Amino acid sequence: MNLKHRPRRMRRTENLRRMTRETHLSPDQLIYPLFAVPGEGVKKEVVSMPGVFQLSVDEIVKECEQVAALGIPGVILFGIPDEKDAHGSGAYDDNGIVQQSVRAVKAAVPDLVVITDVCLCEYTDHGHCGVIEDGDVANDPTVELLVREALSHARAGADMVAPSDMMDGRVAAIRGALDGNGFEHLPLMSYSTKFASAYYGPFRDAAESVPQFGDRRSYQMDPANAREAVRETLIDIEEGADLVMVKPALAYLDILHAIRERVDVPLAAYNVSGEYAMIKGAAERGWVDGDRVMMETLTAIRRAGADLILTYFAKDAARLLA
Ligand SMILES: [Zn+2]
Repeated sequence: MNLKHRPRRMRRTENLRRMTRETHLSPDQLIYPLFAVPGEGVKKEVVSMPGVFQLSVDEIVKECEQVAALGIPGVILFGIPDEKDAHGSGAYDDNGIVQQSVRAVKAAVPDLVVITDVCLCEYTDHGHCGVIEDGDVANDPTVELLVREALSHARAGADMVAPSDMMDGRVAAIRGALDGNGFEHLPLMSYSTKFASAYYGPFRDAAESVPQFGDRRSYQMDPANAREAVRETLIDIEEGADLVMVKPALAYLDILHAIRERVDVPLAAYNVSGEYAMIKGAAERGWVDGDRVMMETLTAIRRAGADLILTYFAKDAARLLA
């Protein structure tokens, strides 16, 4: 046949495909989430997330040494305290579980970028991301506590803080407090576009942060809204976010793409617990090839526009990429 176009010519061999590949995945782009719990020698697997563990500080350090050896540049820490209360005071305790972890990791693996998640939901007895007034999360009093939490993480030696609460005005408030307390060099990654998603289910097992009443729809975004997602992101950049994020990733690739078209700051995507659990669960049953689905998923998130991916697959992917 005399065909004018034969795109298959460039797909014939692996080297031809490599030459024309548009999207690349590298360990440089991965951030590994870790869950810190009190105690020593604790390594407790999260039931709904095979291969993911709640770790005591000593185990977190070991994990971070492995992560660094795999060429992954950073981790993000979540804390699960012994005791929870209405105001999440464990979050801004200078001797809290995340603060202890940051100090230990920075001492053992100084070059690893240690990011801290800034939110109250792991620390409140009601499981919401802020202070409750009249049956709902009160915005401004919550922001005050988030500022205290971010400063406490900064004092512990965190390299970056990442507010995930979705309160209005928290980026500006945290940025101002960091700048006013000698942490003007510390970058802030905003969970700028965080949807009220059912894909967080397994994370709530891991972080023991299931809301005891209601849900998070009065502060997290409606999954149906794309224009609002862009607006939320622009507001956070305006308030001083150095990096922005879309969470979850897989069901929101159009949002990633839309935001990528509009902003120039680095864009992260959170490949969340439910996305991880679906692939792990199907792979364990032999229903899909877990490694291939993982790499295809991470590549798709990059192709949609993410510079960075927070993912429980970070170690598995880095091993395959080596
Ligand atoms: Zn939260």
